Amino acid sequence: MGSPQANLVEIFSALQGEGPIVGTRQIFIRFGRCDLRCHFCDSDRTWQPSPSVQVEQHAGLRDFVEFPNPVSLEQLLAWVDGQHQPPHLHDSISLTGGEPLLHAPFLTEFLPQVKAATNLPIYLETGGHRPAQLAQVLPWLDAIGMDWKLPSASGEDHGPQHGDCLRQCVAAGKTVFVKAIATRDTTDADLENSARSIAAIAPDTPYILQPASPLSAPIKPNQAPPEPPTPDQVLHWHSLLKQILPQVRVIPQSHKYIGQL
Ligand code: SF4
Repeated sequence: MGSPQANLVEIFSALQGEGPIVGTRQIFIRFGRCDLRCHFCDSDRTWQPSPSVQVEQHAGLRDFVEFPNPVSLEQLLAWVDGQHQPPHLHDSISLTGGEPLLHAPFLTEFLPQVKAATNLPIYLETGGHRPAQLAQVLPWLDAIGMDWKLPSASGEDHGPQHGDCLRQCVAAGKTVFVKAIATRDTTDADLENSARSIAAIAPDTPYILQPASPLSAPIKPNQAPPEPPTPDQVLHWHSLLKQILPQVRVIPQSHKYIGQL
């Protein structure tokens, strides 16, 4: 059997702009393909397999060079090694997308090797809807940021799958938080349902409410991006969630405010 391969979109060094580890420096590996179609998606270029991958040559210099897909495991290890300079720069490696769990067979071989090579923690950003694939890669993950898709905001509804993913992370003793993106269309009922489901599984799970960004570009030409919630909505939702869960935080995307990709 040959070396496993993956479809990648880009590899680069950046500051994490979302969730409770906002501001930490990560090597981002962005995988191609997603099987969801969230209304607020700002990574729609990742929905289909990418013909090529953009690889930053030196951490943070944005000196990208384009290479064809698919990418072998050995090639990706070499690119990550190139980013891992100087070695103290990064706090972790972020697996993002697209949906990284669509590459679970590749990850089960890649993750033990990249952990051994870099000694960096592995952080997975996932839609939280693929419990079978999560189970395959969970042993090598250190932290998981999993979405809980609110149907009124995303157009996607995967509550049972989200619950399965959260249960697995908690049972494995992993660091995990749930992120729910809210737009002006978000309903109280969706927020309450998500919070009650989480409370029934692991009530101490941090719940990150992420208001849709006012800086988002249109996903399709001539189509406005989803409207951000009003300040009053955000405060009301925070109060609502705090009646059910003790750890609720409102954290907007920070990377867009500093013009970072
Ligand atoms: S899961 Fe993520 S990448 Fe996929 S459509 Fe939703 S927001 Fe976009």
